[in-house]
Amino acid sequence: MLDKVRPMEYDTNEPHDLSLTVEESEQYQLFALNRVYQRVMESSLFYQRKFSGFIGRSIETLEDFQQLPFTTKEELREGYPLGLQAVPNRDIVRIHSSSGTTGKPVIIPYTRNDVANWAEMFARCYAMAGVTPEDRVQITPGYGLWTAGIGFQAGVERLGAMAIPMGPGNTDKQLEMMVDLGSTVLCSTSSYALLLAEEVQKRQLRDKIKLRIGIMGSERWGDKMRARIELELGIETYDIYGLTEIYGPGIGIECHCHQGIHYWTDHLYFEIIDPSTGKVLPNGELGELVITTLTKEGAPLIRYRTRDLTRIIPGRCHCGSIFPRIDRILGRSDDMIKIKGVNIYPGQIEDVLRETTGASSEYQVRLSRQDARDHMLLVAEAEPGNDLEEVAARIEQNFKKKIGIVIDVKTVPLGTLPRSEKKSKRVFDERDI
Ligand code: ZN
Repeated sequence: MLDKVRPMEYDTNEPHDLSLTVEESEQYQLFALNRVYQRVMESSLFYQRKFSGFIGRSIETLEDFQQLPFTTKEELREGYPLGLQAVPNRDIVRIHSSSGTTGKPVIIPYTRNDVANWAEMFARCYAMAGVTPEDRVQITPGYGLWTAGIGFQAGVERLGAMAIPMGPGNTDKQLEMMVDLGSTVLCSTSSYALLLAEEVQKRQLRDKIKLRIGIMGSERWGDKMRARIELELGIETYDIYGLTEIYGPGIGIECHCHQGIHYWTDHLYFEIIDPSTGKVLPNGELGELVITTLTKEGAPLIRYRTRDLTRIIPGRCHCGSIFPRIDRILGRSDDMIKIKGVNIYPGQIEDVLRETTGASSEYQVRLSRQDARDHMLLVAEAEPGNDLEEVAARIEQNFKKKIGIVIDVKTVPLGTLPRSEKKSKRVFDERDI
């Protein structure tokens, strides 16, 4: 049975079919969790130290596995440059690195098998989005130390489509190649896709381009923005997921049903935890995504805290794929607000504002303690031409309906709250002062 469930070879005709039942797939995952655990205990200095209290044990059940402590980004940073490496130097064929905006970057070494598995997962993503060997794929994410461009490229080559390796920027050149080569697939961030869509409209190129599919990743994007990109470029878009510490983009993607992101259970094990207690949450509940790599050799990771907030969607997708799904990423667990015993995430606040007539997207949260009780004031901007108090009342109502707690809302005219080029600070917690 375990022979049958070794990571499958990529098959263009049946990219979604592992020919496994759910039980077999779960059995395989347990086997694979124990295998990666045994591997790191033999070969990774980092994990030998970290799991020193577990020497001689094996992973027989999920409860055994859940005893293992989490791996954090801080630990990866402390391991700079190659402290996570779990194979001899001669087996490493490439490294990638996350951007070092705060402190040292994280460097991840890859073996030949790691590179091949990543390309296979990425090819599956393309296939799930309907990309075929006939397609011409314009790749606008950056090439270099980070994982974006080269991951998109390797997946295209694995699938057998034509890669157009543009990299970021130079919009004139992007549009020229898009028209002259007749690109059919665009890979980009959602904000760059929007910029290209606006340029296409401005230069009246809509009839000259042949795009049909967009693979968009690395940012949160609203439904309004998505609809605009799709309309103006004439494409169907697919949200792709990934992070440098695991492989890079390509570890999951939406299917044509667009009801969550399928992820590849033959290479990865996903858990959702409560970010404040570390407790594993049942399927369907919102929390922080924790990933274990099942087949990675260069730098295997066990119970890695991604800080991404999502949930595992229960049940099988209508597309028929055996691969399970997570929801779109709702935000970062560092941004979580805990109030009146409820966890609130910025993504939920943004959803409430988006669904409230007359509300704009800018807001601030002020938390305080009043008579020993938590108090939350949401200051939100209203679109011009609306009565401020009416909009505030609607936001209050929607907040209670959607999130389940009563808060105070104050609305201010559009443009009142401060803007910043970088990420704006939106939450002010004065409860401990
Ligand atoms: Zn599906």
